[in-house]
Amino acid sequence: MPKLNEIVDDTIAALEEMKRSGVTHVDVSSATLEELGRPGVVAAVPSGKVVSAKAAGTAASTPTAELATIEARAKVCVKCRELARSRHNVVFGVGDPHTDLMFIGEAPGRDEDLEGEPFVGRAGELLTKIIQAMGLKRHEVYIANVLKCRPPENRTPLPDEITNCLPYLLAQIELIKPKVIVALGATAMKALLDVQIGITKMRGNWYNFRDIPIMPTFHPAYLLRNPAAKKEVWQDMQTVLAKLGREVPRRS
Ligand code: URA
Repeated sequence: MPKLNEIVDDTIAALEEMKRSGVTHVDVSSATLEELGRPGVVAAVPSGKVVSAKAAGTAASTPTAELATIEARAKVCVKCRELARSRHNVVFGVGDPHTDLMFIGEAPGRDEDLEGEPFVGRAGELLTKIIQAMGLKRHEVYIANVLKCRPPENRTPLPDEITNCLPYLLAQIELIKPKVIVALGATAMKALLDVQIGITKMRGNWYNFRDIPIMPTFHPAYLLRNPAAKKEVWQDMQTVLAKLGREVPRRS
């Protein structure tokens, strides 16, 4: 278990570094400050493990409460200096913590960074339509990204950034325990599955992530550029519905 001192030292070192490089203010909401002041707050530690209050033996908790404490930690995370400096919001995740179905994308874009919610821009609108075509509502699933902060100019996440941020996603998966994960695009797929094969070859097939079936499919942003690929994604979503024992709604 990490020592509180180590966490505090790391946070101070990161803040000092930011200060040295000219950052004069850090945005922390009063809700976050209040959360951090409570005992048993979750710790995202440099070793890359996220330790929940429950695991630390400090408090009995529900998945919803544990997700809230991990989100509070993520909101003050400065492990990726560049991203911590440029972000407007940490985009943790949204949806039902008791859902059977989790969608995982790459990283917040401009709209998501400004609003603090994943998949709210054009790609997000398309994802919402896909979810609705599956006979579900957006709030009935859980949506998260590999990175919780927007990479500048929406560049592809760097390997170090993925390593730094992955513990948050792993904790989300562990707490939500979905029956099925849909990996949207190559970044999500490669972050969870140790593969070097492209998404075109992988999509449409089941893989396993810690005993959870995972379906890689094309990212909605790719579909905006290549609408013809919507057909394949719909096939993949039908396969997902079958795995969940849900009927495929008739397309209107
Ligand atoms: N693309 C992603 O991968 N995630 C978002 O939240 C938005 C766009």
